[in-house]
Amino acid sequence: MRDFSSDRRWLAINTATLKSWSLEQVIAGCSRAGITAIAPWRDIVQQCGVERAAKLIRESGLTVTCLCRGGMFTTADEAGRRAALDDNRRAVDEAHAIGAGSLILVAGGLPPGSKDLTGAHRQVRDGIAALLPYARSARMPLAIEPLHPMTAADRACINTLAHANDLCDELGDGIGVAVDVYHLWWDPELPRQIARSGKRILSYHVCDWLVPTRDLVFDRGMPGDGIIDLRAIRATVEAAGYQGHCDVEIFSAQNWWKRDPEEVIRICVERHQTVV
Ligand code: ZN
Repeated sequence: MRDFSSDRRWLAINTATLKSWSLEQVIAGCSRAGITAIAPWRDIVQQCGVERAAKLIRESGLTVTCLCRGGMFTTADEAGRRAALDDNRRAVDEAHAIGAGSLILVAGGLPPGSKDLTGAHRQVRDGIAALLPYARSARMPLAIEPLHPMTAADRACINTLAHANDLCDELGDGIGVAVDVYHLWWDPELPRQIARSGKRILSYHVCDWLVPTRDLVFDRGMPGDGIIDLRAIRATVEAAGYQGHCDVEIFSAQNWWKRDPEEVIRICVERHQTVV
C-alpha cells in the first residue's frame, strides 16, 4: 500500500468539499496549498464557463481526476430520456474540455410516481448503452458510482458495486466504476467486488460516516472523524490495481461548509497523510 505520510501527490479535492468557493477560488486555493488535483462538479465549471475553466485548469497544471457528474437516466417518458442523453453528451464534452480522467455517472432514482424499480434499472442500463458510443469516440471513460441504498428512490438505483460491475460486464469497453467509501462501506460484499472491479476502478472518493448521521445527504464526515475503516478499504482498492488519486468529497451543511475553505484544505491534507 502506498505511503501517504509525507506525500500529497495523490490527494485530490472534490469541489463540493469547498462549497463556498468558485472554480477560480478552488484552483487558486489548491495551488497555494500544494494540492495537485481536483474533482470539479459541473455547476461550478459551467458558472466559470467551460472554455475558461479548461484554460485556467491547464494553466494551473492541476490534474482533473473526474467530473461530477452525468447520469440521471431514469425518466417518465421518451422526451425525458432524449433530454437526459443530450445532457450526458454535453457532460462528456465538458469532461473532455477540462481534461478529466473520467465522467462520473449517478444512475437516477425512480421516475416520479413510479414503483417500477426493475424498470428503472433497465432505463439506467439502456441510458448508459446509448451514451457509450459517444463517450468512446471522445475517449472519455464513464465511471458508474453506486450510491448508498438510502438514495435508491430519489437519486440512484444502482446501490452496490456488484450491480455496477454487472453493468460493466454487460456493456463492455469504455466503462468502469467509482468507489466512494461513504456509499459502499457497509456492504459485506465490498472486498470481493473491489477485487472483481480490478482495473475498472476509475475513481476513489473518501470522506467518513458519522455516528449519528444527522442528515442523509449533507452530513458527511472528514476522513478520520467517523467509523469507516479507510485504510482497509484503500488497501483493497490498491490490491485490485488502483494507483490513482483519493478524492476528498464532503457534503457537510452544518460543519465543513461553514468553515474557512483554507482551513478545510489544511485538514484534508493532514487527514490524507494520517488516516486515508
Ligand atoms: Zn463520490
